[in-house]
Amino acid sequence: MVLEDHEMPNGWPLGLGNLNMRLRVTESLHPAETEPHPLHTPSSSCSSFSSSNLDTEKSKTHAFPGGVCPSVGVGGHFIGAGYGNLMRKHGLSVDNIIDAQLVDVNGKILNRKSMGEDHFWAIRGGGASFGVILSWKIKLVSVPEVVTFFLVKKLIKQGATTSITDLVYRWQQVADTLPQDIFIRLEMSVEKNESIQFQFFGQYLGQPHTLLSIMNQQFPELGLQQKDCIKSSWIETTLYWDNKPKGTSLGNLLYRMPNQSFSFKVKSDYVITPISKAVLEELWRKMIKMGMGMIMQWNPYGGRMNQISESETPFPHRSGYKFLIQYWYYTQDNSKVELLRKLYDFMAPHVSKLPREAFLNYRDLDIGTNQNGANSSIFGAKYFKGNFERLVRVKTKVDPDNFFRNEQSIPPLPK
Ligand SMILES: Cc1cc2nc3c(=O)[nH]c(=O)nc-3n(C[C@H](O)[C@H](O)[C@H](O)COP(=O)(O)OP(=O)(O)OC[C@H]3O[C@@H](n4cnc5c(N)ncnc54)[C@H](O)[C@@H]3O)c2cc1C
Repeated sequence: MVLEDHEMPNGWPLGLGNLNMRLRVTESLHPAETEPHPLHTPSSSCSSFSSSNLDTEKSKTHAFPGGVCPSVGVGGHFIGAGYGNLMRKHGLSVDNIIDAQLVDVNGKILNRKSMGEDHFWAIRGGGASFGVILSWKIKLVSVPEVVTFFLVKKLIKQGATTSITDLVYRWQQVADTLPQDIFIRLEMSVEKNESIQFQFFGQYLGQPHTLLSIMNQQFPELGLQQKDCIKSSWIETTLYWDNKPKGTSLGNLLYRMPNQSFSFKVKSDYVITPISKAVLEELWRKMIKMGMGMIMQWNPYGGRMNQISESETPFPHRSGYKFLIQYWYYTQDNSKVELLRKLYDFMAPHVSKLPREAFLNYRDLDIGTNQNGANSSIFGAKYFKGNFERLVRVKTKVDPDNFFRNEQSIPPLPK
């Protein structure tokens, strides 16, 4: 459906509270243990998975670095190297997978040992080209019993943007260098009356007073105060990331039906050097012209992401990236989608180049599709950089007739 001007989707893009799978922490887990714990979870395209899918009745100190949005399915999320707000501390979902069961092109059920390390490498970020995943074995990570969530909002009108521009410029400098226990997502959404709402959603794996002390030293410009902070268990923060108010019952995570469905177009970019203040000001102007429905999310990298090599998994955007941009435009009007493409063109000089990189899970057919394999290296380099060739080699070995395919799947080498 198309959004009316006054109809911003409540909770989006943070999520719909749409959940249909829970993982139960087994009796053997002990909260005091620091080693990660293996856990099996079934996988299908309709099984939801986010950070909120763990049943924490048994433990408040175990978590999984899944996605932010409870509506995200485990199948697509994992094979596309999904990320969430534990990324700066524990890496991506795929960095915490230790085994999987899949059905290969011959109908055989394989696990890590029987599929071999190349095939296992490819399914952790290489997309939907290598078989149907039946289950994943994941390792849980340790989190403190008490963590802190915060939200700082600033509503800025056209012509009065200097202070927010300074703040966003500063965010670009610090968000990837803060201690890795801190994750601050910046979301900008165009509102009524030519204004943009800037929201700094944050999570700290520790107590509010320690967070405030760090922020006062390293990012005082945000003006974070005690009243902005909510102290809770990690599982409760998953509700706040989904825009649910304090006091919402955890049972709400099991509510699966979306109130409405929406059409939107998504694109992505990676930023390596901070975008200048002049360009930011121009960006705000362009967003305001696009009107309500235009949203950007900036997700900081750094921390653990800097420590994992580009070739460890098919996901290559690791060290040296400041943040990932997600562009969302809620529309099904093609002329409006053109505006988003123009905004993307405007951003070209200010983001990664040669190739201009993109995130596989923010699928964007504009950057190229398979035409008998002819164009695959173009989108392949953007999503996978140097890992694309290895993915093609694995594909040629495990699915030489290209049974598992879509517009942007990995093609096998010609016979
Ligand atoms: C509201 C919203 C919020 C999001 N938030 C995040 C986020 O916080 N972090 C993040 O990383 N991403 C996020 N995403 C992107 C998300 O990770 C991708 O859209 C992902 O592809 C969703 O997976 P799915 O299984 O739900 O989707 P589907 O559309 O069902 O599947 C996507 C692809 O995976 C394939 N696939 C699905 N299941 C399997 C399986 N079992 N075996 C083999 N192939 C399979 C499908 O064939 C398809 O090609 C978000 C998306 C939305 C809409």
